[in-house]
Amino acid sequence: MKRRKFLKNSGTATAALVATPLLSSCGEETTRPQQDKPATTDQKRPIAICTWNFMNATAKAWEVLQSGGRALDAVEHGVMVEENDVNNQTVGKGGRPDRDGNVTLDACIMDKDGNCGAVLALQNIANPISVARKVMEDTPHVMLAGEGAEKFAYEKGFEKTDLLTEQSRKEWLEWKKTSEYKPIINIENHDTIGMLAIDKDGDIAGACTTSGMAYKMAGRVGDSPIIGAGLFVDNEVGGATATGVGEEVVRTVGSFLIVELMRQGKSPQEACEEGVKRIMAKNEGRDDFQIGFIAINKNGDTGGYCIQPGFTYRTYSEEGHVNHPAESYVPA
Ligand code: ASP
Repeated sequence: MKRRKFLKNSGTATAALVATPLLSSCGEETTRPQQDKPATTDQKRPIAICTWNFMNATAKAWEVLQSGGRALDAVEHGVMVEENDVNNQTVGKGGRPDRDGNVTLDACIMDKDGNCGAVLALQNIANPISVARKVMEDTPHVMLAGEGAEKFAYEKGFEKTDLLTEQSRKEWLEWKKTSEYKPIINIENHDTIGMLAIDKDGDIAGACTTSGMAYKMAGRVGDSPIIGAGLFVDNEVGGATATGVGEEVVRTVGSFLIVELMRQGKSPQEACEEGVKRIMAKNEGRDDFQIGFIAINKNGDTGGYCIQPGFTYRTYSEEGHVNHPAESYVPA
């Protein structure tokens, strides 16, 4: 049986299910979300959700969605707001450089059909998310890195831009005095934007963009442009995206894991919590780093969870424009 048909049929089969108590592998009783109707009939849509309190980004995404635009355009234009904001020092122009003083940007984008594109360690281009979209739409590839990505961007008409602002340059010169490489735990160092949206047709897309860890080694790439780690979308299930210490997100293929957990019946909130717990299980005795996950399912239900208190995420839907402080693994 073809995959799509199988999923459609299994959807109909679960349509009759109501809150089914389940025993999880660790013996706790959990409850499967109530599915008394096919998921598509009670979708909350349109809706946009992003990491951190980037209200201008969700406002932009909402503008696109409300005027009937596609989720893919909403997430691209939404995250571009942060790429263009020179005061955001971990995304786009104004981002903190690597230890050699070069600003290198990572981004990826994914659409409803599972198409995706990414750029890694891209220099001199202010909107890596749009280059990632071009990789997705105009090449047979998923990822372009470094000089190749930059050359491709110029071919596509992107302009060369100096990404190192005076503020980020000054801070980098200050950092060089000690060159201590100890990532700061929370918002001060992580404000990667990951965004997910559902449009009026019920289709899901996602985007993630960052300048990565401040003062990273030259060539270091984190989770943000890695499909499955920093971002994952499955139009039949939902989407997830991450912020925080990318190495740890890559080790658990975090966003893919969360989408798969939702496929198995977990709510977005439960799936994000499980994602963080998997990371903590691999880091016994360590909780001095931050990771925040957000997720959305096909119904438009959302969730978020993090390691350290302080992570928030924004949603924009008919219900309003809301900043949600996420619950954390480490108690507040
Ligand atoms: N996840 C990003 C990275 O590891 C960093 C961040 O979220 O601030 O590159």
